[in-house]
Amino acid sequence: MYPELSMYIDGKFISAADVEKTQDVLNPATGKPIGKLPHASKNDLDRALAAAQKAFESWKRTSPLERSKILRRVAELARERSEEIARGITMDMGKPIAESRIEVAAGAEHAEWHAEECRRIYGRVIPPRNPSVRQYTVREPVGVCVAFTPWNFPLNQAIRKMVAAIGAGCTMILKGPEDSPSAVVALAKIFHDAGLPPGCMNIVWGVPAEVSQHLVTSPIVRKVSFTGSVPVGKQLAALAGAHMKRVTMELGGHSPVLVFDDADVEQAATVLAGLKQRNAGQVCVAPSRFYVHEKAYDRFLSVFVDALQKVKVGDGLEADTRMGPLAHQRRVAAMQQFVDEAVTCGATAMLGGEALSGSGGFFFPPTVLRDVPDTARIMLEEPFGPVAPVTRFSDTDDVLRRANSLPFGLASYVFTNSLKTARYVSNNLEAGMVNVNHFGIALAETPFGGIKDSGMGSEGGIESFDGYLNTKFISELS
Ligand code: NAD
Repeated sequence: MYPELSMYIDGKFISAADVEKTQDVLNPATGKPIGKLPHASKNDLDRALAAAQKAFESWKRTSPLERSKILRRVAELARERSEEIARGITMDMGKPIAESRIEVAAGAEHAEWHAEECRRIYGRVIPPRNPSVRQYTVREPVGVCVAFTPWNFPLNQAIRKMVAAIGAGCTMILKGPEDSPSAVVALAKIFHDAGLPPGCMNIVWGVPAEVSQHLVTSPIVRKVSFTGSVPVGKQLAALAGAHMKRVTMELGGHSPVLVFDDADVEQAATVLAGLKQRNAGQVCVAPSRFYVHEKAYDRFLSVFVDALQKVKVGDGLEADTRMGPLAHQRRVAAMQQFVDEAVTCGATAMLGGEALSGSGGFFFPPTVLRDVPDTARIMLEEPFGPVAPVTRFSDTDDVLRRANSLPFGLASYVFTNSLKTARYVSNNLEAGMVNVNHFGIALAETPFGGIKDSGMGSEGGIESFDGYLNTKFISELS
């Protein structure tokens, strides 16, 4: 039922039976092993580097039309294989199967959009000072890229980077998430079957810090892209900086939610409960610090708790499950620590608050904490789980100061029916993305990215290719 796992180097698949070192992959709904993942040796990493370097020499010369055709085919194959990919994601990552299907559909859209947009990578002609001079810019692929992608959206985080690199004319070595690898293996099969030449895409697995140290420091590599936590992002950016490599960093956030008393408070609570339960809160743009106007506070909490109380928690393969397990045991321990510390600081758990034991799986229920002081750890560190800390505010500038007080700046949410408040708050929130009265981010055609400690660079939107292109200036005298 669970697919066979492999590496993919220079157009060839390498299974666990072909290597010395492997690791077990667990189903987080049961805690039991379901697959074996092959680890790359140093020799495997060097072969991937050599293959990517060789492939780059020809791939960079392909026409955008040719790249576009392959990316379109990638989108088609992702849709055709949606059900098997989705099952794999649910089995090794845990999210409900309906969410896995949505992830695959969104991944196909990313491939399709980049297929369209890679044909519009333009340079420009710059008016010269001397009429005999023609001066212009062209955009060239940066070269061999390495990417490290996380477990929460195992297909999407990988496909976003792949389609941008391949569409720009770069080649790639990608290390996906060892905790939930099946979607990345499926992606390699899709690119292989879509006709991507050998070496353009390579997939490796291993001990993350060892693999990244080897790849990032290689003189063959020109660009590093990472999605994951802030501390690891800082380490990788520092390593890349020491070797003068380009970086794109999509790191963690701690998304503030501002619910004003002139909002449709019941609707806001319903929308936010849905976003909080999505992927059990393991979403970098999940709403995670809830500031509710004091005049709307009790109304908001009543609807919010009611909505989350109804969420059926269970194995993501069961049709009626609305929230699956957390991706691994360490997230369950992290949730318990956040809750216990907040309660010690004076918060009250209105819902949940205790890990669900018994099944062997990594379950933590939807949890709502009220009256959480700003000094509690959960208000300062990204929870990355189904725990919602709620607090009140009365003054707009004061709540903006509280929302902006952390080093993160990824997503943010505002609920108000006042255009004036919406605009003022959107302009003053320190965040890469602002949602007003709904969730409207992470579409293929819109830029996704953070500021401050949440990273640099954008994925999606026309900005997507910027991280994979150099600008070359040419001046000709005739
Ligand atoms: P983590 O930082 O240990 O791992 C995150 C990802 O980075 C994993 O896939 C891991 O394999 C990889 N990684 C870790 N060290 C690495 C290294 N030295 N080189 C290359 N890759 C490396 O965190 P975790 O416990 O797995 O996840 C929890 C935290 O990760 C959360 O608090 C959240 O901030 C962050 N996270 C963010 C996103 C996102 O979309 N921005 C996604 C997943 C996790």
